[in-house]
Amino acid sequence: MSDPNHQKEASIDTYSEVFRKQRAKALTLRTERLNERTKRLKKLQLWIEKNQKAIQDAVYRDFKKPALEVNITEIYPVLTEIKHALLHLKNWAKPKKVDAPVSMLGTTSFIRYEPKGVCLIIAPWNFPFNLAVGPLVSALAAGNTVILKPSEMTRYTSELIDSMIGDIFTEDEVRVFNGGVDVSQALLQLPFDHIFFTGSPAVGKHVMRAAAENLTSVTLELGGKSPAIVDETANIKDTAEKIAWGKFINNGQTCVAPDYVLIHPLVKGAFIDQLKLASQRLFNHDGQGFQQSKDYARIINNNHFNRLDGLIKDAVEKGANIVMGGNLVSEDRFIPPTVLTDVAEDARILEEEIFGPVLPVVEYSSIEDVIQTVNNKPKPLALYYFGQSNKNKRAILNATSSGAVCINECVLHFNHPNLPFGGVNNSGMGKSHGWYGFLAFSNEKPVLRQRIGFTTTKTVYPPYNNRVKSIVKLLTKYF
Ligand code: NAD
Repeated sequence: MSDPNHQKEASIDTYSEVFRKQRAKALTLRTERLNERTKRLKKLQLWIEKNQKAIQDAVYRDFKKPALEVNITEIYPVLTEIKHALLHLKNWAKPKKVDAPVSMLGTTSFIRYEPKGVCLIIAPWNFPFNLAVGPLVSALAAGNTVILKPSEMTRYTSELIDSMIGDIFTEDEVRVFNGGVDVSQALLQLPFDHIFFTGSPAVGKHVMRAAAENLTSVTLELGGKSPAIVDETANIKDTAEKIAWGKFINNGQTCVAPDYVLIHPLVKGAFIDQLKLASQRLFNHDGQGFQQSKDYARIINNNHFNRLDGLIKDAVEKGANIVMGGNLVSEDRFIPPTVLTDVAEDARILEEEIFGPVLPVVEYSSIEDVIQTVNNKPKPLALYYFGQSNKNKRAILNATSSGAVCINECVLHFNHPNLPFGGVNNSGMGKSHGWYGFLAFSNEKPVLRQRIGFTTTKTVYPPYNNRVKSIVKLLTKYF
């Protein structure tokens, strides 16, 4: 008879064995030529390009995500990340010379970018391909070996990722371990050289605690409540269209989706009218209904469906009005684009990250009021300002802190290869994408070279006589 504990032990043994092999391999990767990294990235690129249909099918089976949406939000960002890395890797990895100040006269110094070693990537379910494979690109570009744990909630995509990695890499280079919390927790016991975690702030705390045991560095890509601020100077049609897209794509299950709208009362009515029109145009183009639309995904599972249903009910019980959507269909895990107004301050929907296609629209009285509302909550992953007032824009940029800001846009910054992506405090720490992703998986090692027999520091070696005293005085005053 199989003993579940034995099974667990066997799995932990397997993780340790793979970890041991990767540690040995990681040492050899430190000295290999850069074109070996390039080859790995190109193999990954080729596999993805050839298997786009398989990726589309897997994500569709997981939560009915439309094929083109898979291309736009899962495949394209990863291919862009690979192409960007291939284009810049030589420059990124080149040691960077730094200038010497007068006190370092005679020295030459540079920064060397060495791979961190064996890295763990733990991915969420909401962009199950993109958020597992995107960080892998950075880890490989930086010359690391990787153990990858995709989400257990997107079974089909996670299995596909496993078979993709098995096709391309040996297990001492990259290995996937699929499974749930137990697998994650077992892996977290190993002394990785870096952990890259994407998920909720609550789980991020567990990851950081586990990492502390081994003093492993972490990148935490977390979530939170990203506000969209719409003032009276905004172009309402354009704003509503962009917010409808950013909020309802992926069925609202996007870490950087506008979580709630703070709006000037003068433009609230027009905004809601335009939001209705834009939602129809984007997600119910042929007028058959959102549920029938091929362009609209589903909630990932029953737990999340019930959680969202609960958030709406709680808000309505506390006085909120549903001004759009609201007709949920549990058998299909279907929630249409839904907008709430008159939401009470203590409604849970204004406290918890929504992570679904439900948008509270809240009136504000002044920009100071907006700033206070944002600053009273944990720092968000993104903040969006829609308007043309330089005064408001400046006030918001100066007085609030967030992982990123978009002006008259939302969500799009995720795909900008030259911008660092990440949160701040509760929404995350460390940055990813492009050069910043390369840095996250690299140790910036300073190297200082001195001439033999020479060092300016000798002038202040003991004994601490009057000559040393004068030199220190001069140094402190002028250099
Ligand atoms: P989650 O935190 O529940 O799970 C993420 C991963 O952690 C999964 O692989 C899961 O198996 C693992 N995990 C779960 N519980 C664990 C535990 N106790 N110990 C160790 N590992 C554990 O997140 P999710 O539900 O998959 O994703 C939604 C959350 O992720 C939202 O908060 C969202 O905002 C955030 N997110 C952030 C980004 C970003 O880039 N900042 C991107 C996508 C999602």
